[in-house]
Amino acid sequence: MDKITVTSPLLPSLDEFNEMLKEIWASKWVTNNGQFHRQLEQELAEYLKVPYISLFTNGTLPLLTALQALRITGEVITTPYSFVATTHSIWWNGCRPVFVDIEEETCGIDPDKIEAAITPKTTAIMPVHCYGKPVNMKAIQAIADKYGLKVIYDAAHAFGVEVDGESVLNAGDMSTLSFHATKVYNTLEGGALVMHDEVTKKRIDYLKNFGFAGETEVVAPGINSKVDEVRAAYGLLNLKQVDEAIEKRHQVAIKYRKALRNVPGIRFFDDMSGVRHNYSYFPIFINAKEYGKTRDQLYFEMKEKNVLGRRYFYPLISTFSTYRGLPSAAPANLPVATRLAEEVICLPMHHELSEEDITRVLNLIM
Ligand SMILES: *Cc1c(COP(=O)(O)O)cnc(C)c1O
Repeated sequence: MDKITVTSPLLPSLDEFNEMLKEIWASKWVTNNGQFHRQLEQELAEYLKVPYISLFTNGTLPLLTALQALRITGEVITTPYSFVATTHSIWWNGCRPVFVDIEEETCGIDPDKIEAAITPKTTAIMPVHCYGKPVNMKAIQAIADKYGLKVIYDAAHAFGVEVDGESVLNAGDMSTLSFHATKVYNTLEGGALVMHDEVTKKRIDYLKNFGFAGETEVVAPGINSKVDEVRAAYGLLNLKQVDEAIEKRHQVAIKYRKALRNVPGIRFFDDMSGVRHNYSYFPIFINAKEYGKTRDQLYFEMKEKNVLGRRYFYPLISTFSTYRGLPSAAPANLPVATRLAEEVICLPMHHELSEEDITRVLNLIM
């Protein structure tokens, strides 16, 4: 039987893409803040309801650059239940990651456990809107304000997510996005940094262009993360169809939930009230005792039948060799994250899943 993959990239029409490529070829302006690059930044800012956005070549460089721009040093509080890039960005900036446990309800950082992890060296918090589920931004900001900390959100999963009509990307000091092919909205590889004011936007634009502030003036040790016109054109086309793709994912989520609601030992997330979700992932959590099988038993049974779920996020970042020696990486410090990493499977979730695909997935679980 055909493979059912956990995701499938949203691809623009080749004909429309070709028309835009002809424009790029004619202009010979292929990178360095070209016309499509500027247009995509503008259209994304409108779509996402954010004042300023800067495009990047992937979702990791905006994390690195946000930490640089805010001159973060010392210790940064984060969670181990994420993609490795979150913690790597802290390490690459010469800072020490401090892991705090997550909440069962959101898989995001548990605000009640942040204060105990703050030391005189703490300068920032890097929470993750895991699976696009908004974390408790008010509680996090209150702690940040009390201790004078910066907040950088890894919002790689939270494209288009809103709480009461407001983008989650407007919280904290900055938020980062990933436009990798596996994400809800993609530019093949790509990403962005969201900021709240023009001065910061300017500084970020210098930093992603080697620090150049003019033809001959370099104001900071910048990096190169400039997006070319080909990817910007691709991004413009995908932006036109992303709402339709999100709605198709929503319909898949409705079907999964309806079927799995009364299966003992399986937990999943319902929509949160007031939240516009993007249905980027559909994690289920297996309680082996009640379900009668462990997560890995089910995972490998599915794999055998060519249904490729993914164990996001297993293993925890805190278990990798770089980080496992840190005191905060001890499993006893991270009981919820440690358990959920053993329970989770993300089911196939994308805009092209057919009725038959969904039935095939469900029949393996039920
Ligand atoms: C995908 C992802 C990233 C990194 O994005 P890339 O575009 O692959 O560099 C960072 N954080 C999280 C939580 C992610 O899922």
